[in-house]
Amino acid sequence: MSGSAAAPASLPRPKGHDWTVLAARLKGGSRAVVVLGCAVFIASLIGLASRHAFSVSFWPANAVLVGLALRDRRLFCVSGWSAAFFAFIAGDLLFGNGLSLAMSFAACNVVGTAVAVSLLRLLDRRDLTLRRVHSVLRIVSRLLPASLVAGLCGAALVHFQFHGSALQAMMTWPASELVNYLIVLPAILTLPVPWERRDTPFARRGSQDWKPGLFLAVSCAAMVVFDGPGSIVFPLPALLLCALTYSIPSTTLMTMVLGTWCMTMIGLGYMDIGQDMSIPRMVVSIRVAVAFLVLVPLTISSAMEVRDSLLTQLRKAADHDGLTGLLNRRAFEQRMGDRLGSGGSQVVLWLDIDHFKAINDRYGHLAGDAVLKSFADTARQCCRATDLVGRMGGEEFALVVEVSSLAGAKAVAERLRDAFARRSVMWNDEPVHATVSIGAAHVDRGVSDLPELISQLDGALYRAKRKGRDRVEWLAESDAFDCLHAFG
Ligand code: GH3
Ligand code: MG
Ligand code: MG
Repeated sequence: MSGSAAAPASLPRPKGHDWTVLAARLKGGSRAVVVLGCAVFIASLIGLASRHAFSVSFWPANAVLVGLALRDRRLFCVSGWSAAFFAFIAGDLLFGNGLSLAMSFAACNVVGTAVAVSLLRLLDRRDLTLRRVHSVLRIVSRLLPASLVAGLCGAALVHFQFHGSALQAMMTWPASELVNYLIVLPAILTLPVPWERRDTPFARRGSQDWKPGLFLAVSCAAMVVFDGPGSIVFPLPALLLCALTYSIPSTTLMTMVLGTWCMTMIGLGYMDIGQDMSIPRMVVSIRVAVAFLVLVPLTISSAMEVRDSLLTQLRKAADHDGLTGLLNRRAFEQRMGDRLGSGGSQVVLWLDIDHFKAINDRYGHLAGDAVLKSFADTARQCCRATDLVGRMGGEEFALVVEVSSLAGAKAVAERLRDAFARRSVMWNDEPVHATVSIGAAHVDRGVSDLPELISQLDGALYRAKRKGRDRVEWLAESDAFDCLHAFG
């Protein structure tokens, strides 16, 4: 077959394309190696140091690995996990463990974290950033099986390497996994980093209020000073207050610091909870207690985030017109009152589209809607984002635009009138034209009687209609506003 048409497509281009794909994969792979290798190595050193010093060890490396792989899904690849495997081994060797033991520990960690990432990846992105009320519980429901798998590997390791009790390892290992995940993972998943753009930022609640943070710090000190079996829940009221006050990232940071503080203070023996920490059952109990302690503020923080975002949506819906997205009458008049009350040079425009009923009658209601949207676009384009544009109802609109002078006010009104008159909406391949009549006033001092100003603008608008439409009528000098400038 000669196939001249197929030949160019099958020759050099795909080859070049393959190289590009390969280069991109290599770049992604080496990035995964560097990021995960370094992060796991550092976190392993922290964990190994705690394992040597503490009775109840703290192992953040697995949570760091899982968190990074969930934040950037390209990191969850063979090269990244191999780098993590060698980083685990390197840490162990540095702390004097033998190669075969180091490899066994690394294998347990790699298997457990791979299962955790695989299960957590099934969750919605909003759950991983704790933006839904049940997010934390959904995360826990994925971490439990992952911790049990890690526990099974750990039990095999304890049995074969240490000839210890596999049953005991099946208790202590998953509890350790779970508490480490719950302390570290939420912070890794939610803390903002400058190089990563988030779709929607978290609400900035109470970031200026330092009192809940101070209350938490005092509670953390109190749990050490007045220790005992109940001291583990001393910081709970402060945690609840922080969760109600601060954003999700701040709360996850606080739960991470608090959880680490608890594990460190108990591990080093500074906080005596009245139990013998050499008994594995007690260690499991305290790990579960700390894990469940941080669940509460995390869930409250998620619920607050949901509430805040719903309130924002509700406020937006309550203040804006559904068709054009402009401010509705109530919101516009409220903001207009604030604006004009504070003085400054502004132009106020009251507008009504000309012969709009005829457009509806001739082209249909949907075409009329398209003209309304087109006017809204024109109005937005004629002013800055800080100016006010509102739909007063039907085909009536209003604007308050900051201007520097009387001449600037006139220019704004004429520009808007002219821009809309030139614009057309294509409806069934036919251009639909419309014009607008405007009642206008330039205000350069505070206005106290807003209803009176609106009624006079309405009068000016209807003068514009009577005089032939598609024109701007300014408030007459006889109108009783000494703050207004009139045009002849
Ligand atoms: P004038 O030049 O004097 O302002 O005449 P007009 O036809 O623009 O004014 P009139 O008050 O007679 O008609 C306004 C029309 O606007 C009547 C109403 O059905 C229509 N209207 C009101 N709200 C909407 C809307 O949301 N969509 C559409 N398509 N039409 C609307
Ligand atoms: Mg009207
Ligand atoms: Mg009209």
